[in-house]
Formats: sequence, C-alpha cells, structure tokens
Amino acid sequence: MEKRGLLIVVSGFAGSGKGTLMKRLMGDYENYALSVSMTTRDPRPGEVHGREYFFVSKEEFEQKIHEGGLIEYASYVEHYYGTPKDYVEEQMAAGKDVILEIEIQGALKVKERFPDAVLIFVLPPSIEELYRRLKTRGTETEDVIRKRMGRAAEEVCAIDKYDYIMINDEVEKSVKRLHGIIEAAHYTPGRNEEFIQTIKNGLTIKDVLEKL
Ligand code: 5GP
Repeated sequence: MEKRGLLIVVSGFAGSGKGTLMKRLMGDYENYALSVSMTTRDPRPGEVHGREYFFVSKEEFEQKIHEGGLIEYASYVEHYYGTPKDYVEEQMAAGKDVILEIEIQGALKVKERFPDAVLIFVLPPSIEELYRRLKTRGTETEDVIRKRMGRAAEEVCAIDKYDYIMINDEVEKSVKRLHGIIEAAHYTPGRNEEFIQTIKNGLTIKDVLEKL
C-alpha cells in the first residue's frame, strides 16, 4: 500500500508571495497536490472557478459546513474560506503531500484535528517589500488592503505556533527551500515508526547473537 502523504499547511500575509510560490512548487515537483478552497469572495480578474477557488454563495458555503464537507473554515475580511474534505483525503491516501494554502485560524484548527500536519508560515524578506508587493498588485481597494494588513498584524503574533517560517526572497531559491522543509518533515522518527520498528525487531539479543 502507498505510504500516506503529509498534510502541509502554508500561511502567510497577503503580499508575502505565497501564491506564486505554490504555483511553482506544483510545477517543479510531482508529489504535491494543491487543495482548492471554497470561498464566498468574488473572483479576481483571471481567477477561474475550480482552479484558484470554488466561488460559491454564502448559502452554498453554509450548506457545505452543515454537511460536514469541510476540514476547516474561517472568515477572513468579511468572507468565508474553507477546505473541502474529499479531495484532501483522496490525495493523501494516494501518497501525495497535500498543500493547504490557508489563513491562521484555519491552520490552527487543522493542527488540532491533525497533529501530524506540518505548518509553514511564509514571510516577505522585509516589511518594505511587503508594502511594495501589495501596492503593485493593484487587485484590491485601499480599504481591503488596510483590512488585510490588520489581519497580518494579528497573524504575526501567532507565528510561534507554526513548525517553520519560510522567507520568500527569490522565488527560485524559495521553492527549493520549501521543498526541502517538506522533505525533512518526512524523516522525523515519529513519521517513520513502522520502519524504525523493523530495525528494532532485528536487533533483539537473540538476532544479534544468531547473525553475528
Ligand atoms: P485571498 O482572498 O487573498 O485569495 O485569500 C485570503 C486569505 O484566505 C489568505 O490568507 C488565504 O491563505 C486564506 N484562505 C484561502 N483558502 C482558505 C481556506 O480554505 N481556509 C482558510 N481558513 N483560509 C483560506
């Protein structure tokens, strides 16, 4: 049977560049599956239903919550966002590492429910760079940007609940670094108990005496 994949949670401020990073990670490596969230916010220009998000009404979203179809959900700057359950479970069972690109409240709920999840927080290289990226993106009104920055200020206070931080300076290097963090997470003793047990079993006094 395929070894179950890991649940990888990636959070970061608006403007931390995590979206670009995720797209590159998917393009450069094969063993990842990116979960597509459901949201009640409107699509931005160029966003496609089913690719960036499943864009739904508030009623549809609440119905999904009611059915127990979401792993987690949260409200962020006046909209709902949530992770559909089925895709995540299927992909993990098929051995893929599933990436959830979600905000902090959702991330902490995931950690509570799946303590083995790996939580990574993406930061911009500097605060100046964060403001520069936000202003040049030009997809949100100033009011929305201000609210998002308010959330960033709250989120940074809970950063120590994450397992890793990732500084997103140059995309090329950052993608490799992110992949490296996930690779390393696969090799903790806690995630390899079965294998360690086979080694232990082969090292009983009887085995050692017989085989040497
Ligand atoms: P945006 O509107 O910029 O696409 O996303 C706003 C925030 O919602 C980002 O921090 C993003 O990571 C987060 N987000 C996206 N999908 C989900 C989700 O399924 N659950 C939660 N909790 N947050 C999400």
